[in-house]
Amino acid sequence: MLIISQSVRNMAFNREVDVVIVGGGPGGLVLAHSCFYHKLSFVLLEKNIEPGELSKATGIHCRSMEYLSIFNLSNDILRHAVRLDRAVIFVDGNITKRIEFSHGSKVDIQNVSLSQKVFEEILVSKLPQESVFYGCEVLDFHDSNDSVTVQAKDVQTGEIKTFKSRYLAAADGGKSLIRKRLHIDFPGETNPELALSFDAKLCSTIEPNTMRMYNGQQGRLVFVPISNDGEYKVSGLIGGFSETLSTNDMVEIAKTRSDLCVVEETIRNRTFYRLHARIADCFRCGNICLLGDAAHVFYPDGGYGLNMAIEDAVYLGETIHVAVQYGRKEVLDDYAHYRREVALLVKNDATKKRVQSMDEKAENNNEKQVYQSEQYQTLNYENFLVNISKYKITLKNL
Ligand SMILES: Cc1cc2nc3c(=O)[nH]c(=O)nc-3n(C[C@H](O)[C@H](O)[C@H](O)COP(=O)(O)OP(=O)(O)OC[C@H]3O[C@@H](n4cnc5c(N)ncnc54)[C@H](O)[C@@H]3O)c2cc1C
Repeated sequence: MLIISQSVRNMAFNREVDVVIVGGGPGGLVLAHSCFYHKLSFVLLEKNIEPGELSKATGIHCRSMEYLSIFNLSNDILRHAVRLDRAVIFVDGNITKRIEFSHGSKVDIQNVSLSQKVFEEILVSKLPQESVFYGCEVLDFHDSNDSVTVQAKDVQTGEIKTFKSRYLAAADGGKSLIRKRLHIDFPGETNPELALSFDAKLCSTIEPNTMRMYNGQQGRLVFVPISNDGEYKVSGLIGGFSETLSTNDMVEIAKTRSDLCVVEETIRNRTFYRLHARIADCFRCGNICLLGDAAHVFYPDGGYGLNMAIEDAVYLGETIHVAVQYGRKEVLDDYAHYRREVALLVKNDATKKRVQSMDEKAENNNEKQVYQSEQYQTLNYENFLVNISKYKITLKNL
């Protein structure tokens, strides 16, 4: 796999760009692609020294693939991903439902699954290297009327660098430093129970291109294929267990809550986390916009987290392009309004799906995604583009 890890040490001081992107997760990286596509100058600053190893998001919805195809990324993703054709739901060991996923009309528009690390590696490998800096932690920023100044530290040498930009995009995750420093509230809920996610191969053979969800008293345990060599991501709440869980315990959890067994020696990328459902009170403050997990986090049901980060990035790239090209920064409010409304719909839907997945006897009637709802249609990308086209007139022409 292609790793690009440029040291912040070699970068120019006081670099001035259109956009500073804080965070190199899916949201920040897709926004970087959008900036590149729109010929906006940018730097992306990521505190880790390379894409993270942890077992996190896997599923890319076909509508996200459609967005990624704008940036010529879909074929690279398809080379590494598993096509996801269906979800099979079990209750008490019996299959209660098979949900067949519909794919797009074009061959590169499919529902797919791959590890978040591989996804991030693909995204970064296709960006101009002089604009992406790993090992660069943003510590502080100052927003004045016409620009944002950002201070970041080279995590290896401790040296401080300064960047100046017209806009700052906060893609720095659920614990966003930028959101906190702006004093933007992040109300919502946190599930007190611990969740676990790990990658492993299975001893059992199951239908290819299929994810399995086992509903039971402890909630749902999910198996999603993440590579074509038989690796799966396994995730779910872990009840009475703690973070001291051994690999043997993980094998036991899989065995007792499903009819599948995992190969202990292949278990890797174990991650413990808590589930949250939160939405920031606003997505814009001055020249700064929030996107992805910095703006919203959802319960995992529906697999929206990664896909919303991708969508936010596409909308925000388009927005900043209009703001820069036409000198109309009020367009940032449209981004903030549209994406927050969508986040509210998604949060409700993911929470509803979560409640159903906790009820082992429930008939899962809530299988449709928010994208099919009427409310979403009024907020979709096409309508957004029409809406912001009103700004596509330069001030001097008014
Ligand atoms: C264990 C786990 C499992 C998950 N499973 C799924 C799933 O199956 N499906 C799904 O859709 N979603 C899932 N998610 C959620 C999904 O991973 C996120 O929604 C998605 O990663 C959001 O992307 P993002 O770019 O907004 O934020 P992140 O991926 O969190 O990226 C933020 C980046 O910002 C960097 N950063 C933070 N602070 C700074 C700073 N001060 N300076 C520089 N860089 C900084 C971080 O290092 C990080 O790389 C899961 C999450 C977890 C934790």
